[in-house]
Formats: sequence, structure tokens, C-alpha cells
Amino acid sequence: MLEHEADCCVVGAGFAGLQAARTLTEAGKRVVLLEARDRVGGRAATVRLDDGTPLDLGGQWIGPTQDRIGALAAELGARTFETYGRGEHVFAWSGRRKRFKGTIPPANPYSLAWLGYGWSQLDKMALTVPLEAPWTAPRAEEWDAMTVETFLRQSVKSETARQLFRIAIEAVFACDAADVSLLHALFYVHSAGKLDILLSTDAGAQKDRFELGVQPLAERLAEAAGAVLELSAPVRRITQDDRFVTITSDRVTVRAKRVVVAVPPTLAGRIDYSPALPALRDQLTQRYPQGSVIKCFAVYPEPFWRSEGLTGQSVHDEGPVHVTFDASPPSGKPGILMGFLEGRAARRLGDAPEAERRDAVLSSFARIFGDRARKPDLYRDRAWATEPFTRGCYVGFLPTGAWTSFGPALRAPVGRIHWAGTETATVWNGYFDGALQSGDRAAREVLEGRD
Ligand SMILES: Cc1cc2nc3c(=O)[nH]c(=O)nc-3n(C[C@H](O)[C@H](O)[C@H](O)COP(=O)(O)OP(=O)(O)OC[C@H]3O[C@@H](n4cnc5c(N)ncnc54)[C@H](O)[C@@H]3O)c2cc1C
Repeated sequence: MLEHEADCCVVGAGFAGLQAARTLTEAGKRVVLLEARDRVGGRAATVRLDDGTPLDLGGQWIGPTQDRIGALAAELGARTFETYGRGEHVFAWSGRRKRFKGTIPPANPYSLAWLGYGWSQLDKMALTVPLEAPWTAPRAEEWDAMTVETFLRQSVKSETARQLFRIAIEAVFACDAADVSLLHALFYVHSAGKLDILLSTDAGAQKDRFELGVQPLAERLAEAAGAVLELSAPVRRITQDDRFVTITSDRVTVRAKRVVVAVPPTLAGRIDYSPALPALRDQLTQRYPQGSVIKCFAVYPEPFWRSEGLTGQSVHDEGPVHVTFDASPPSGKPGILMGFLEGRAARRLGDAPEAERRDAVLSSFARIFGDRARKPDLYRDRAWATEPFTRGCYVGFLPTGAWTSFGPALRAPVGRIHWAGTETATVWNGYFDGALQSGDRAAREVLEGRD
């Protein structure tokens, strides 16, 4: 077993852990970073096609107000380009196809009125949820006692509008509206700004992509961090006394003054702690599930939808794919369509043979973009719930009752243990930007802590 001594050990080399490591090394601390996988980046996972085209199997976009990741990309020379958006999107609903521009699909006027009403209500309610302490919102108890689905049934009278909201919830959390606490959804909207910023491509979270994919940026951040990096070192046990904390992974042990655990809460809950964590913290990790998503790509010789005046973006009621995007490189060659299987669809198809998933996804693509979509040169997907060191994506979410009962345990350090990861962010929670914020915050806690 390899042994290290350090001022601080960081567990997890996603953007959160990498940023924590960088802030600490820049402050002169000796840092050892333990990563379970054989690569850095975590949910930022880029692979290359035979011709070198990058495919981001995990996160891929950044957008306005995501200032931390934007600044990091600029600093480390990771060039971005705009998500393809020339032309119109497709709204495939009740067996009919319509074209539209912008974020709001062309449903009938009655449904649109209810969509607008629900939308503005959610935005208004979200602003009343304090980002540092959602459980102190004036109506926290009431909103944490209901799911988003309950809100939709009570407040939105059109079934089409409700269905559109359900698809939006799936697209943002990769879970069903019935899974997630209304208070959590409102917190999440507020942490991004408002619903429009969360959902929009031209002026929101889906605006830009990285020319080389996202993982190379994580690799550059790892270099800049200058910490001792140990890959293939899944942490199993954290033991602390009043002087040191000992972090034991499969092949490396670190003795440090402090540790930053930068993994999703449900994975933090699978580490063995001695002494045991306080009940509130442990039970929080029992209530912070990851969403379910399979990210699916179909690669064609060219983006044939563009010549029909289409952006590649679509909203589809039938599924199993409900939303699609153009994921082609800046050159437009090859043409790549990307769609998500989310929530129930991801759970249903997650264990299916790839051929069955491929068939289900390409059938969806063909219903939206025509028969050419059925015959790609290549199909590729990534089911995130089967990844042992992620266990679901895009992000963890809180079900009913969790924020109001366990919220204060989310970031509270436990002795020498500090918590990071995008799930602990107050701004852009769930995104790369939030991961960076959380890493910085945890590092500052370490720097301010008494040794
Ligand atoms: C399909 C998909 C699409 C997404 N789209 C976007 C997007 O477009 N834009 C965006 O901003 N965000 C997106 N996200 C979310 C984004 O990827 C995450 O918010 C971000 O990567 C989280 O970073 P993190 O460091 O908090 O966690 P992670 O990236 O999960 O990092 C945690 C690290 O800890 C490691 N680890 C886990 N357990 C242990 C252990 N016991 N010991 C040691 N190491 C361990 C993991 O291997 C991992 O490397 C998407 C995610 C997915 C999966």
C-alpha cells in the first residue's frame, strides 16, 4: 500500500475536487488527490470517434452567468463554440410535427396560457428560496411536502402544459416530476437564475460547447492544480481523530490534517467513516438519489436536418427520447444527433441490450427527423446509473421532506471532513460551474480551519 502525508487530501477528481485541490495548492498546501477512476473529470467524460471528433458522453454545455467555468475555459485555453441553432426546432406532439423557434413550443393557445402561468409562478416562487438555506424559505414546509407533480396537478389545468413541464423536469433533473420535492426544484431554478436560463439554448445553460470536449479542460485543471494525483484509487474508509484524518483507498493511504470529499452525496454515503458520521449527515446521504439518464448519439455522414432548415433540437411527447440536440462538431462533419433517455425511460432501457436501446432511440429520432435518422453510421450511448463511481446523473436531487429535515447537514463539516461537489453548490447547482464553486468553498473552509 502506497502511503502519503499531506496537509489536505481531496477525494474525487471531478471539477469540484480539482478546483479544491488547485485553491489549496495555490495557498501553499501539500495536497493529495485520490480518484477512483483511471482518468480525471468524473461526469465530464469525452471519447473520440475514429476521425478524432470528440463526443461528450457526460456534461457538454456552458452558458451565460456560468462565470467560473467560463473564466476557467478562457484561462486554460479551452475554446468554445455555439450550439448549432440556425433554423427551426421540431415540436412532435400527438402524432403531428410543427416547427418553432425559441424555448416555448407551439402548443395550442389554452395550453400555452397555462404553460405561461405555471412558468411565471415557478420563477416567482423560486426567488423566495434562499440559496444558502432553502429550508428557511417562508413556505419551505409547504413546498417541501409536495412534489413538482403535485404542484402541476394543483396549479396547471391543461394536460398538455403539464406534460411539457414534466418533460422540462426530466430534461433538467433526469427524474420524474413525481420524484422531486417542489422546494428542491425551486431552489435549483433560483440557483441558475430562472427557468428560461435553465432551459434555453440561445441564451441559457445549453449555449456553448467545447471544441475538444469537456474532459480536456478537466485534464488541464488537474495539471494547473499541481497536486499529487493518484488515479484508480477508490476511497473506502475515512478515519479521524483529534489530530489527523486517514483516508484509505484500494491502493493508497493518505494521512492528512483535513479531507475534502468531492463526490455526489450518495457516493459519499458509501464510504465507511470512523467515528460514524452524525445521524443527520448520514441520513441526508440516504435521501439524495442521483437522476437516471442515458445520453445517446447517432453519427451520420452529415447533419442532414440542417439542409431542411432544422436545428436538430426537438420536443417529442411520445418518447422514449423527449428532447434532441445537434451535437455535430463546429465543422458540421460528421453530423451528430444527440438525445437523452431520462427518468423512467432510462430506468426501463438501462438494463436492456444495446441493440434494443439503439432501436428505441433511433425510432424516436426517425419520428422527428424522418427515415434517414434510422440509419446512422454509428450509435453510441452512456448509461450513467451503471457507472460505479457516479451511480446516476445528471445530478443528485432531493425528494420531499429532505431539505427541511436534513438541509443543514449538506455542507456542515464533520470534524476534519469537508464536503464539496456540485450537489453542495448554491449557484448553478448541478452544473460544472456549481462544481467549481463548491470546490473553492470547501478549500476556503480548510484554509480557515484550525489545525
Ligand atoms: C449526461 C450528462 C449531461 C450533463 N450535462 C451537463 C452540461 O451540459 N453542463 C453542465 O454544466 N453540467 C452537465 N452535467 C452535470 C455535470 O457533469 C456535473 O455537474 C459535474 O461534472 C459535477 O462535477 P463534480 O466534481 O461535482 O462531480 P463528479 O464529476 O461526479 O466528480 C466526482 C469524482 O469523484 C470520483 N469518485 C467517486 N467516488 C469516489 C471514491 N469513493 N473515491 C475516489 N473517487 C471517487 C468520481 O470518479 C469522479 O471523478 C451533465 C452530467 C451528465 C452525466
